[in-house]
Amino acid sequence: MAEILCLNAGSSSLKFALYAEPGTDEPSLLASGKIENIGLEPHLIARDAKGDVLAERRWTKDGTITHETLLEDLLREIEASVGDDLIAVGHRIVHGGTDYSAPARVDAPLLAALEALCPLAPLHQPHNLAAVRAVSRLRPAVLQVACFDTGFHHVQPPIATRLALPRALGEEGMRRYGFHGISYEYIARQLRSIDPDTGGGRTIAAHLGNGASLCAMAGGRSIDTTMGFTALDGLVMGTRCGALDPGAVLYLLQQRGMTAREVEHLLYSESGLLGVSGTSSDMRALLGSETPAAGEAIDLFVWQIARQAGALASSLGGLDSFVFTAGIGENAPEIRARVADRLRWLGVALDTDANLRGASVISAPFSRVTVRIIPTDEEWMIAIHTADLLREEPKP
Ligand code: ADP
Repeated sequence: MAEILCLNAGSSSLKFALYAEPGTDEPSLLASGKIENIGLEPHLIARDAKGDVLAERRWTKDGTITHETLLEDLLREIEASVGDDLIAVGHRIVHGGTDYSAPARVDAPLLAALEALCPLAPLHQPHNLAAVRAVSRLRPAVLQVACFDTGFHHVQPPIATRLALPRALGEEGMRRYGFHGISYEYIARQLRSIDPDTGGGRTIAAHLGNGASLCAMAGGRSIDTTMGFTALDGLVMGTRCGALDPGAVLYLLQQRGMTAREVEHLLYSESGLLGVSGTSSDMRALLGSETPAAGEAIDLFVWQIARQAGALASSLGGLDSFVFTAGIGENAPEIRARVADRLRWLGVALDTDANLRGASVISAPFSRVTVRIIPTDEEWMIAIHTADLLREEPKP
């Protein structure tokens, strides 16, 4: 049985999903899981499609363990426990820049172009590309496909992508790109199958995980989003600050004497829910905490979602549906209820029981806006694209 592996490689985790590629129908899930805690004491857990554990492994801290040796171990575990006919690897690549939007076969020129984009996504892109290079070394015969988190937003109207900076900087690539595009593409596809006529109409999708953003979609096409030039912009996130007065960055550099690296670390890794609560970036922990600072971090998270959803509703000229997805969006009824309450003025009304149950439609029958929970599946979307490109490959 031929298989496709989907990889989402980060700095401290490697998420994966393995699919059977039947050649015609949609790929079907064989196994998924992640290696967490890379750099400390890595832990691998892989489950089959039913959720039963297929393989589990822990590594003790050891200088010889790298992302590449872990990937090699993962490939071996997969071959030993699931299947040994890997024909393609699809990667989540955070940035495709202005030139790449559609999923693409990885070759040397593409890899070089994507390397050049590392400064635009310094915390994600280098890890994504390291996984591509590692697969090239470990399994040189396998087709590799890059799927871009920026791609879905390429169709946005130019005005939504422009930064109010001198034009020359815009021509250099300083513009709003938007991210979480693979997730939003999946949501748009689901909406299209639920509602073939309008694809959800004027929709705001809220991807609320450790990274968080909103996307305004008209009939399934992105027209605006809260992340911008980098994945720092927009909502309050686990450890990222979200929208911030650029003057605050100048203050940190000039008055506090921080270096650019220190500011980068502050904004990406010490801010957001973690920074405001002072204790945790994890929404579950904050919801379980009784400290006022944890409560304020949650208040600010909800406030910013509602505030920026108001802006996106304006970009859309109204609102027909609202979708919650990702870790917090799919699993935290209290957050959904509080966001919905703030969006009451837009015609949002929840069905309390449906929300508590986590039903697929959680709005009340009289709500002007249909509110849904759609669990996202970025890996499946990557598998679909990888399978499509596989079919275009010349047969040996
Ligand atoms: P990532 O962006 O790393 O893929 P996820 O989409 O897995 O992140 O989302 C992680 C976030 O989801 C964390 O803040 C976590 O606390 C939150 N989360 C997961 N399950 C729940 C839950 N049952 N209640 C509240 N928050 C949850």
